[in-house]
Amino acid sequence: MTILVTGGAGYIGSHAVLLLKEKGEKVVVLDNLQKGHRAAALDVPLYEGDIRDETVLDRIFTENKIDAVIHFAANSLVGESMEQPLAYYDNNVIGSYHLVKKMVEYDIKKIVFSSTAAVYGNPVNIPILENDPTIPTNVYGETKLAIEKLLRWMDGAHGLKSVCLRYFNAAGADPEGKIGEDHTPESHLIPIVLQAALGQREKVMIFGDDYPTEDGTCIRDYIHVMDLAEAHYLALQYLDKTETSNIFNLGNGTGFSVKEVIATCRTVTNVSIVAETASRRAGDPAVLIATSEKAQRVLGWKPKYGSLETIIKHAWNWHVHHPNGYSMKKDEAGE
Ligand code: UDP
Repeated sequence: MTILVTGGAGYIGSHAVLLLKEKGEKVVVLDNLQKGHRAAALDVPLYEGDIRDETVLDRIFTENKIDAVIHFAANSLVGESMEQPLAYYDNNVIGSYHLVKKMVEYDIKKIVFSSTAAVYGNPVNIPILENDPTIPTNVYGETKLAIEKLLRWMDGAHGLKSVCLRYFNAAGADPEGKIGEDHTPESHLIPIVLQAALGQREKVMIFGDDYPTEDGTCIRDYIHVMDLAEAHYLALQYLDKTETSNIFNLGNGTGFSVKEVIATCRTVTNVSIVAETASRRAGDPAVLIATSEKAQRVLGWKPKYGSLETIIKHAWNWHVHHPNGYSMKKDEAGE
């Protein structure tokens, strides 16, 4: 089987590529390298291009016999999406439109789509179930929901089968430390806290301590990036076997507050990381916790790295050995 991974040089995409290679699958990556890193895509054939560019899609689909697509390529920052809605609709929705259009043209019938917990908005139930209401509170979630809906209609009209995976908070890194998380600028909690542990930041800002939670800080469900990767592989097998579209949450089912995350980072790194309370970040729900019972039951998915401490240990291993992420040149030059 040959799998096209869009966004395969990004954080979650590159871990999926690593896992697919470990499983012996043939992989081709399409990435515009705006956020992704060439080195993250390992030694897989990389088409540097954009999902909105039909000529590069034509090249990929004529030069390779693609059996299925895993679609990660997207803009994915909540805050940014609120300031630049057009950019998010353009890259995420219009990009997916071109990809799906070409898949129909080349008769490729299987897609695993990288969706998000942000499609739910403010949850009505904790833990969140797949059939709970989807009322996004930010543009990012809205664009991902629009793509989920497009995929549903494409199944009806063209028999394009899709699995949409709604991730909660992806974190951690390849346990062997070959690849990891490297965003510029970084906005996610765990890498920010670890950058503070490395002395790259003076302190961590806690965005709000007046939420209706036990310690007042937001609670999130952190899921190891390799466990997410495994779910994509299982989703491909599911599509092969059942030829049925479906939607799954992916989380650990346990929530940790921002303060608990910082405390665990202190334990793992043995550094007394400075944290300071700041005002709330717009659009943050107090609590987001998944139930992934459906993914476990239907896909046979079993997270291997469920403990927050393990997730943070693997992330820390990556950050310690790659303090400048993928741009090692700065280190080598002694900058
Ligand atoms: N957060 C924080 N300080 C930071 C970054 C994040 O307090 O510097 C909080 C954020 O408000 C949220 C949680 O940490 O409650 C997880 O945020 P992240 O951006 O990692 O993921 P998100 O939940 O937005 O997908």
